[in-house]
Amino acid sequence: MKALSLHVTGVVQGVGFRPFVYNLARSLGLAGSVHNASDGVYCTVEGDDAAVDTFALALRDEAPPMAVVDEVVAEAVEPRGLTGFVIEESEARSGAMTLVSPDIATCPACTAEAADPSDRRHRYPFINCTNCGPRFTVIDDVPYDRPATSMAEFPMCPECAAEYADPADRRFHAQPDACFVCGPRLYLDALSPECGGLDPDWSWSPEREPAPRPHRDRDAERTRSDAIVDAAARLLREGRVVAVKGLGGYQLACDATNETAVTTLRERKRR
Ligand SMILES: [Zn+2]
Ligand SMILES: [Zn+2]
Repeated sequence: MKALSLHVTGVVQGVGFRPFVYNLARSLGLAGSVHNASDGVYCTVEGDDAAVDTFALALRDEAPPMAVVDEVVAEAVEPRGLTGFVIEESEARSGAMTLVSPDIATCPACTAEAADPSDRRHRYPFINCTNCGPRFTVIDDVPYDRPATSMAEFPMCPECAAEYADPADRRFHAQPDACFVCGPRLYLDALSPECGGLDPDWSWSPEREPAPRPHRDRDAERTRSDAIVDAAARLLREGRVVAVKGLGGYQLACDATNETAVTTLRERKRR
């Protein structure tokens, strides 16, 4: 029987590190805890000598794909007869900073769900999980937890909350977990004169969308979302320039085979 206290630094927040530690410790039959702090991830484990050693090595060798482990500092401590393994509350330490992950492109598992008509996130534009999605752009502060992100004003629906709390789920502790019911939605600037005739309810304004955001009906929300994508596609086909606001800024889109559309875009960009 032995126990270790470990401090892991690097890109270890927003990359599924706590769920990884939780599942690793459980699979090795170790007791202890893990938590995020402003300067990295801290964990304590105790149990069988060989299992504790395996755990310490695996922290670096088997870390999640998006994690970059700079250093694992391990210190032997007295076993305290702990039982079970828990993810504890995050801890803010003044003056300390950890590295945060960049935004990560949609992973294959999420892409497959978005394409699956039987999935509750079928065609949900903001689908994400512990392995992908927004990070740096939504983080206001560390430690990385939902209240310290721009997702704070989107209270999770019961289904997302269940995924978030389930160690066996790919979205266990995924801070930007969201869906049609509870998450961010698409908007289209339907009030602009160029968009004449579109549903004014598609426009965004802070007055129209007070925080916390309400939970919505999934089917109605998907219908609205699809209609907005269709309308944007139609505008592109008609030769308009569409500014697509994404996580990190705007992408300007137009039909590259339409000379008038390309000229309009060049004039507006003065290029
Ligand atoms: Zn994903
Ligand atoms: Zn949800």
